[in-house]
Amino acid sequence: MKIIFYMVCVLPLCAFAELKKSPIHYDVVVGDDLQSIEVSSCFHGALPSTLSANDAVGSFVSNVRFKNGRTLAVEVDRVNLPATQTSRCVLYDVLLKPRNRGEQRGGAETRVIDDRDMLTSIGDWLLRPDADPEYQQFYITFVMPKGVHVSAPWTRVSATSFVGMNTPVEWEGIVAFLNRAPNRININGSDFEISILGDFHRATSADMNHWVGRSAEGISALMGFFPRRQVQVIISPSDRTNSTVPWAYITRGGGAGIHLFVKRDANLEQLLWDFSLPHEMSHFMFPHIDSGDYWLIEGLPTYLQHLSM
Ligand SMILES: [Zn+2]
Repeated sequence: MKIIFYMVCVLPLCAFAELKKSPIHYDVVVGDDLQSIEVSSCFHGALPSTLSANDAVGSFVSNVRFKNGRTLAVEVDRVNLPATQTSRCVLYDVLLKPRNRGEQRGGAETRVIDDRDMLTSIGDWLLRPDADPEYQQFYITFVMPKGVHVSAPWTRVSATSFVGMNTPVEWEGIVAFLNRAPNRININGSDFEISILGDFHRATSADMNHWVGRSAEGISALMGFFPRRQVQVIISPSDRTNSTVPWAYITRGGGAGIHLFVKRDANLEQLLWDFSLPHEMSHFMFPHIDSGDYWLIEGLPTYLQHLSM
């Protein structure tokens, strides 16, 4: 009986408590094409003076307006909000322009994977206030087309809702819309949510879980624990070269994220021999270092990846 009480009453209350204390609520409706998005952002405290994203946002975002109808201009990477406004909600439309040619070389990018799944860089479409204490946390909920799942770097509350920490706007992050449900594993108390985009010929999703788990155990063994409690892992296929993981990078926007491009016909043994995932994971043993000193930023993870394997 007691257990039933906790399940029925306490869990929804927890979610509601998280929801109530978030100063920003986003509602995001994703269209069937996974490119057209309608965003509503409502503020429970003072209206911020600006909402920002990256400097390409003006080519994806349109029709920015207050709920009462007053329109707002996008200025390069930001929208200025007039202080006199009484409306608490800013609405806008997004039409993403995903890349689908060539292969990714840099950080977070909006891109179609195998004509089916969608990677989005949050900087392309999510307008946010600067990360100051007043707007530290937000609650975001997605309305997805039937059968489409969402992966985000924030803390999951339900299949389509998250509580996020408002990290600096210039920190990259990924939200992915995908046709298969993410997998979750826990290693030494840290949660890894693994989203597999596109098709792989040999490695199964159980193989991918095993690979992530083994790499996380190796990194945990160096410190006694994994350096982050929660990690978003995204795996997408690559046809580019013969190396097992031709490209990978981490993101810190909203939380820890790792995006790996894996050779489409890689098998589990090749994955377990590859150093890329332990390397990316070991980046999280250090804070974000904003510097051109790559000997420091890359040298330490390159050393640690070998110790962990
Ligand atoms: Zn690195």
